[in-house]
Amino acid sequence: MINTALETIVAGVRCREVLADLSEYLDGTLPSSRVEALQAHLAGCDNCAGFGGHIADTLAALRQNDAPFARDLTTLVLARIGGGLSP
Ligand SMILES: [Zn+2]
Repeated sequence: MINTALETIVAGVRCREVLADLSEYLDGTLPSSRVEALQAHLAGCDNCAGFGGHIADTLAALRQNDAPFARDLTTLVLARIGGGLSP
């Protein structure tokens, strides 16, 4: 199950913590220390890289465009990659 992978720790951050921080990261409200940890995790985590994607690239693109649909898209992405992960 994917939930096991979510417990993987890379750069001192669990995958599930990255997922939990994605929304704030998109909103730009995530503290810079957390942003650095999140980005370090994404850069070195095979699990997150395998979640469909290039999450970091997608997030960066969304942030640049400041797209109004970003929040909805985040919800969709989390639903798809989170599996049984409950908020
Ligand atoms: Zn990860």
